[in-house]
Amino acid sequence: MDYVKLINCMRCGMCLPHCPTYKETFLETASPRGRVALIRKLQEGELDQSERLLEYLSLCLDCQACASACPCGVNAGELVAEFTCERKSDTGLGFMEDLILRKLVPHPDRLETSLAPLRLYQNSGLQKLVRTLGVLKMFPKPLDRMEGLLPPLPARSLRQEIREVTPAVGVERGKVGFFLGCVMSLIFSDASRATIRLLSALGYTVITPKNQVCCGAPNMLGGDLAGLKDAARTNIDIFGGYDVDFIVTDCGGCGAELKKYGHHLDGYAQAEEFSAKVRDISQVLALHAKELCTLLKPLDKTVTYHDPCHIAHCQGIRKEPRDLLKLIPGLIYQELETADACCGSAGTYNIAKPEMSDRILQRKLDTVRASGAEILVTSNPGCLLQLKKGLADQLPGIRLMHLTEVLSESMNSHAE
Ligand code: SF4
Ligand code: SF4
Repeated sequence: MDYVKLINCMRCGMCLPHCPTYKETFLETASPRGRVALIRKLQEGELDQSERLLEYLSLCLDCQACASACPCGVNAGELVAEFTCERKSDTGLGFMEDLILRKLVPHPDRLETSLAPLRLYQNSGLQKLVRTLGVLKMFPKPLDRMEGLLPPLPARSLRQEIREVTPAVGVERGKVGFFLGCVMSLIFSDASRATIRLLSALGYTVITPKNQVCCGAPNMLGGDLAGLKDAARTNIDIFGGYDVDFIVTDCGGCGAELKKYGHHLDGYAQAEEFSAKVRDISQVLALHAKELCTLLKPLDKTVTYHDPCHIAHCQGIRKEPRDLLKLIPGLIYQELETADACCGSAGTYNIAKPEMSDRILQRKLDTVRASGAEILVTSNPGCLLQLKKGLADQLPGIRLMHLTEVLSESMNSHAE
């Protein structure tokens, strides 16, 4: 770990009011400043890796709200993630971590097959029965938690359904490679279908390589830097085989990771080039706002937007999604209070740290309720999963949509 990054913290405390775990606990050890100090003391050999210390570090969501607020460029979330990776490289992956991060996640076919029993569970009516009877309350809590977060699964993954090349509508303005995130393909396939449709309608030929693999974000989250680097090399080589203007994704978490390939694979010639081409879908659509306007028809709804951490804090994208929503005629845009505060999802955090995750989610739901919106929009699968469950439990009248789904729905009205 780069020691300079640790000593850059001047302990001003400007990050504190932005840190979700500090806001919940008011503990210095659960704040960005405190986490940086703990890692520094560990590096300097003044502290040991006690269970308690590791617990404070593991409470970090890696939301990077602290990095957005810090005047010195300190990124406590990233430092905690780097520390976890270094620790894991010493201890090695556990059996389950190895199974998930190495044997399952990097293989799209295996991931797709692993969902078959869940699909059967939903379609056979067993899920309804299990939920009605509360059977899962008798099993370990994480299982009940995961089941509760599971939304209805599409019959097939989008990767299996989609053509590798979707032609441009009308005159071709360019070619883009589409990075189809695992969760988008497996669960939120309608949103990614809408993304491809929008790109094609704006004149892009969309190439979705079938052999692309997970971006590696789960590996990073699990401290498996070697696994992340393997994923990065595979994706760089695959997309390098196509002559594309941009590599587009509609998954905030994937976009943030893909943009860091150049950093992770320092010295690998094509990595910087690959990362420089990566764009969040909102960035590409915003380039063609005028053309998009001609495709959109009124949608008389009040809409608000939740900034995914991986889009706002990690990629610095805040304006484009809002500007795109405001293009839709008839739509009333209502800004969400603390829209860029984490929703508590953070990968598997909502399963690993259910109590803290629920407290953070509750703050988000309270602001959504206060906004008076009929539709909540966001652009990251983790947020979609977390907010879907939260809205279903507390605000069932509010629809949750991906940004591209709202734009596509407005386009559909146009066709009527
Ligand atoms: S991390 Fe940044 S904002 Fe927080 S105390 Fe240190 S210098 Fe200040
Ligand atoms: S990444 Fe998020 S949770 Fe972690 S220290 Fe920074 S603001 Fe707090």
